[in-house]
Amino acid sequence: MKLKKTTHQLKGIGTSPGIYIGAAYLIKKPDLILPRYWINNKEINNEVQRFLEALEKTSEEIEKIQEKLCKFEGRQQINILDTYHLILQDKMLRDNTVQYIKTDHINAEWALHKTTKKIRKSIPETHTPQLQEKTSDFNDIKERIIRQLLGKNEEIYGHLPKHSIVVAHDLSPAETSQLIKFNIKGIITEVGGITSHTAIISRALEIPCVVACQHALTHIKTGNTIIVDGAKGNVIIHPSKQQTENFKQHQNYHLELKKIFLKETHLPAETKDKHRIHLTANMELMEELQSIKENGAEGIGLYRTEFTYINRKDLPNEEELFKNYQHTLKSIYPYSVTIRTLDIGGDKVLKNYPYEKETNPALGLRAIRFCLREKAIFKTQLRAMLRASLYGKLKILFPLICELEEIQRAKKILNEVKDELRREKIEFDDNAKIGIMIEVPSSVMIAEELAQEVDFFSIGTNDLIQYSLAIDRSNENVTYLYRPLHPAILRMLKISLAAAKKYKININVCGEMASDPLYIMFLVGMGFRELSMNALSIPRAKRMIRMMTYSQAKNLLSEAMHLKTAYEIESYAKRHLEKIFGKELDIFDS
Ligand code: PEP
Ligand code: MG
Repeated sequence: MKLKKTTHQLKGIGTSPGIYIGAAYLIKKPDLILPRYWINNKEINNEVQRFLEALEKTSEEIEKIQEKLCKFEGRQQINILDTYHLILQDKMLRDNTVQYIKTDHINAEWALHKTTKKIRKSIPETHTPQLQEKTSDFNDIKERIIRQLLGKNEEIYGHLPKHSIVVAHDLSPAETSQLIKFNIKGIITEVGGITSHTAIISRALEIPCVVACQHALTHIKTGNTIIVDGAKGNVIIHPSKQQTENFKQHQNYHLELKKIFLKETHLPAETKDKHRIHLTANMELMEELQSIKENGAEGIGLYRTEFTYINRKDLPNEEELFKNYQHTLKSIYPYSVTIRTLDIGGDKVLKNYPYEKETNPALGLRAIRFCLREKAIFKTQLRAMLRASLYGKLKILFPLICELEEIQRAKKILNEVKDELRREKIEFDDNAKIGIMIEVPSSVMIAEELAQEVDFFSIGTNDLIQYSLAIDRSNENVTYLYRPLHPAILRMLKISLAAAKKYKININVCGEMASDPLYIMFLVGMGFRELSMNALSIPRAKRMIRMMTYSQAKNLLSEAMHLKTAYEIESYAKRHLEKIFGKELDIFDS
């Protein structure tokens, strides 16, 4: 008897937009049975040798993966695999294991297991996504060494059919990059967040991806037909004929639209009544530079520099940062690049920094607070930025400013760095613009005072919403409260804009709100002239702006400002936008 397949829907977090319908392939790594036995004095040297060879082979294996990744479509090296080399070179990992073999007279696999247990105990007990990533890198390396020791280093993905949607509990960066050669069309993981490695790589490679999709491995079986919607975070198992048909249509429609939008993306973002808006890109990794140019960005409105710091044990030195910024500025010239100083802390932690345990990391030693305490780290980054400023148009952005003294102190340090460079006769662009992120309610309330200190404001709506509505942005239980059209948020945007206008400084929006067609018209109507977003969203945003008039946008906003709740405003916006744009922009369904 044939069992009826029932349709089932799972919800996760969409981290890389796009829809794909296809067959699932579950990646469950076979359990490794760890052999434990004692060895005698004569066997010790051999055992140590066996362990060291396994380390060597694992290192070669990682190098091969890295090479494959570099060759893939000629993309630049995704250097997060460097973390793996650092783990392999770790003195504690090597010396402790050798020590256990020698003193406890135990085999290499057992000794390695004891070492990794000890190292893991020394990692502070927080559950930040970054730390989870590190633990998963660590586990992956341990498994790889053990497979080498056991001679079981066979390809786990040997039977993976091309064009599959991969479903796994977690995927390490090395695993994700190995999957690329199978031309996979979607990724679903049970854990992870927006900043997880899997999400970053999938975005860079434009593979639809849903993370934090709990119990995916229980509900999905290899071969099941599933739909992965990487924008909304939806996964549909055994879709009905009708659903499949709808999604196929949607998928084709989506692809067609993408082509149309891309064709026009080099035209200016100008409303029908000639109101010019500038669309710039947000960037996390240098690998995105190509896509930023292809998608028609007019510069980089936000370079989140912390990704250069968090996937490694050491800190990047001035030369490395200089080269990174120099290359970015040169590639984007004649447009400008807004480089944000290190926004570390909160959920993004440095590997070897002795953090004190924080009960509330999002309210703790984050961003500018960290840099003002760690002056040397801050100065190194500022020196690199200033030196690179000769190679393009640099703007410097300070994150999470919440009081006047903070920006004054940051500027003082910047001036110290400038003086040092002058003394060393190193040239730089003394006119590089200075700005701050407006992303906490206090900075909105003192926006006029802050505007007198800087050349521009950049509104980080992700944090502004988090701190104003008191919702942890990485907690999936409260995402339903994430409401950019909450009257409080609209009013804060207006206040910031008015302050910027009064003191004649530039202002832009760079949070996720700026990329969503549902909100773009509000921002344009309010008077924002620059929006910064992920590169892939630019073509559609441009198209939208070219289809509307500024007066339509102003009308939408003024009506909405009379409504009392986020829900009322959203419903009103949807009705209004549907009338103007119809189905053409795929606004409500992507
Ligand atoms: C924001 O908070 O909106 C922002 C752009 O910064 P990040 O997302 O990096 O915190
Ligand atoms: Mg922020």
